[in-house]
Amino acid sequence: MASKPKVAFYWAASCGGCDIAVLEIREKILDLAQAVDIVFWPVAMDIKYKDVEAMEDGSIDVCFFNGAIRNSENEHMARLLRAKSKVLVAYGSCAHEGCIPGLANLSDREGVFEAVYRESPSTENPDGLVPQTRYELPEGEVEIPAFYNTVRTLGQTVEVDYFVPGCPPQADQTWAVFEAFVSGELPPLGSVIGAGEKTVCDECERVKEDKKIKKFFRIHEIIPDEKKCLLDQGIVCAGPATRSGCGALCPTVNLPCRGCYGPPPGVVDQGAKLLSAIASVVDADTEEEARRIVSQIVDPIGTFYRFGLPASLLRRRKMQ
Ligand code: SF4
Repeated sequence: MASKPKVAFYWAASCGGCDIAVLEIREKILDLAQAVDIVFWPVAMDIKYKDVEAMEDGSIDVCFFNGAIRNSENEHMARLLRAKSKVLVAYGSCAHEGCIPGLANLSDREGVFEAVYRESPSTENPDGLVPQTRYELPEGEVEIPAFYNTVRTLGQTVEVDYFVPGCPPQADQTWAVFEAFVSGELPPLGSVIGAGEKTVCDECERVKEDKKIKKFFRIHEIIPDEKKCLLDQGIVCAGPATRSGCGALCPTVNLPCRGCYGPPPGVVDQGAKLLSAIASVVDADTEEEARRIVSQIVDPIGTFYRFGLPASLLRRRKMQ
């Protein structure tokens, strides 16, 4: 009997939602377990890194790697799983384009440590201690992963064969990706899979009119009309700059698209694309009025680059 394909899952710098997203295929997880051998999945199996190190190079058929590269452990595992896997998949927005952990690229290691270990109101740290990579204890030296200045995507760290976008990827898309691997019907290497080829606006059923925006609102400031395009109503919606594939889930429940499926085909920088889409609908007669209108957009970087700062042309803030 032919052996089953060997599959691995790994979780680096991410919230854990992508591992839950795998389980969102529900009872089909049993079909998956029938069709493949899951050889590494830290969140679900007791297996150690040394067990992976002992595997032959290329012995894992496909590894679904979620999470960005935030520290030396993430990078070590990315390189290890790249070597052990025939096919490496960046699964979910963090691995694909950096996602929410990547917003830390607005600061650096010092700034993150300052905010987390010294300034955070819920932290009691009178001596102002921050983590040390190595520390001597009576029992011996302990070592923790080194925290990097900059969050990188998986593709900026090792060669990636396929990209599955989404924060997290939707269950039907995840299942379609698993089926494609099991059947061997795969697009060319380097493709985005488990997503559409258009924008979220293309799959959104809201009524679109001529957009002329005099005022932007945050989502809690108005109750939007449930039928009309949210952007037409002055709510920043990332639909025009986001790849389709989620079924326009957020606009369907009266929330703006936040952009988690990344840039649509042909777009290099999602934030720049959204910026250009927004700029084209601002209804201002003078430069001063235009400035006043756009200044109503709170947290522009967190809005335009919420999911893709590390993968953008800017990648990070330049620190002094
Ligand atoms: Fe739908 Fe948002 Fe596009 Fe409007 S901008 S059509 S609400 S996805």
